[in-house]
Amino acid sequence: MVDIILTTDRTMMSNHHGKEFLGFGATGVPVLLPEKLWMYMFAPKMKQKNGIPWQASYGIRKIEAALIDAGFDASVVDPDYLDRYIDDAKVLMLSHHDYFGFGPPSSTFASIFKEEPLNARSFANLMNSEPVRRAKKRGIKIIAGGPSAWQWNYRKDLMDEWGIDTVVDGEGEKIAVELVRKAMNNEELPRFVVMNNREAPSLEEIPEIKHASINGLVEIMRGCIRGCKFCSVTLRALRFYPFEKIEKELQVNYREGVRNGILHAEDVPLYGSTDYYPKTDKLIKLHELAKKYYKTMAWSHASLAAVLAGEKNDKMLSRLSEIILKDQDWWGAEVGIETGSPRLAEIIMPNKAKPFETRNWPDVVVEGAGLMNDQGMIPAMTLIVGLPEEKEEDVIKTIELVERMWDIKAIIMPMFFVPMGLLKNRDWYRAYNLSELQQELLKICLSHGVRQGKRILKGYFTDRPYLYTIYPFYWIFIETIQRIAKRNGYLYTDISEIKLPEIKKTEDQIIS
Ligand code: SF4
Repeated sequence: MVDIILTTDRTMMSNHHGKEFLGFGATGVPVLLPEKLWMYMFAPKMKQKNGIPWQASYGIRKIEAALIDAGFDASVVDPDYLDRYIDDAKVLMLSHHDYFGFGPPSSTFASIFKEEPLNARSFANLMNSEPVRRAKKRGIKIIAGGPSAWQWNYRKDLMDEWGIDTVVDGEGEKIAVELVRKAMNNEELPRFVVMNNREAPSLEEIPEIKHASINGLVEIMRGCIRGCKFCSVTLRALRFYPFEKIEKELQVNYREGVRNGILHAEDVPLYGSTDYYPKTDKLIKLHELAKKYYKTMAWSHASLAAVLAGEKNDKMLSRLSEIILKDQDWWGAEVGIETGSPRLAEIIMPNKAKPFETRNWPDVVVEGAGLMNDQGMIPAMTLIVGLPEEKEEDVIKTIELVERMWDIKAIIMPMFFVPMGLLKNRDWYRAYNLSELQQELLKICLSHGVRQGKRILKGYFTDRPYLYTIYPFYWIFIETIQRIAKRNGYLYTDISEIKLPEIKKTEDQIIS
């Protein structure tokens, strides 16, 4: 029996075979393979005991910890085992990275394939499941939060249909306790709560997780100093976790059997920095600490500029890679390129290239990505297509940049603009708006992705040899994409086949 259940849908309650990047597959539309096989490849079921999952997403673990610290009887429950717990529970708390598939990768796939992505379908299945409906009928209170809470603004009809009492948008540790207390006392709940910076929890108010997080992810800081206009993180307060706090969470994961982990920050190399220059000594200490508990590790996000600045300054990346690459051959991180156009970068992300000049952004990207590869890092990179200020000349610059990245071992994922952050009142971008140039951009990224995807896959499971049994599925997946794309004329076998409009090339800038 448990008073407060925290859960999410099947695609989120997965550690993606211990490979975080595979989780992106759950944002896709399962059109190439049967849905069950797709789920197995990208979001297999989590190990559980009596319906209590071994690992759960870090955000859910934080709220669980806050409630336990406040004296509540709260636990994360696997969505397939709600039946065992829900009849006695008084509050059901939901979290999701992408409730309705409106996030950049899902909405891009949905827009191209004109079908609902897997994660959205899976969440709808959870809400329409018999245990959830039964509990709602009985009067259970439902509170939804997490990084995609903003999406409920577009689906208030489903709030009513599924009986969601409250949606919390923003950092939830403090407010969750207050709302649960109200729910337990049968007091009225607010429909929407939007947390601002002043209400964000201080470091002391952020609890340490009590149980294992998915893929051993531990947060090292919150917020980001770069302030890109399209990003919701921009609006968050900056806080760096002290080593002791980080170590406590590493210990929780280690104690529960997690041996591979992820350091989470919007820009891991800027841990402890407020001036765009990495603090290498702090980073070395941080990585040595993580390696005390984790055999292999990865970064959630990193910026090209920080990696490059740190290397130029005091060999930051080379020194970190010596620590990281003990017991592993490579590590990954999500890295934002967003555009190859310095003009557009100046408008939407004027600090992204710092400490370098924004006019040198394409060179920062190419040099930074090359450096990452040299040091054993494989980035999953993002581009934004259809930004409100985007002009044809910007798309050309981005195509040129991807062309320069042809041999970089990376995935470059173009995603349609989603109105978030300071641009949240702007229009969505849809596939039917695609210009010829934007289609060219998608084609070159797809060609690059197929080519580099195969290269990456060859070494993808070296740290977990037992996963080689499922390796053929991914190979067939890439082969299928390649075959279909080629048949439809979406794939180039040779970069020289790409015909770019005549443009005047500028001389490469020297990055100082
Ligand atoms: S996009 Fe990345 S670098 Fe820019 S503000 Fe957001 S987290 Fe920071």
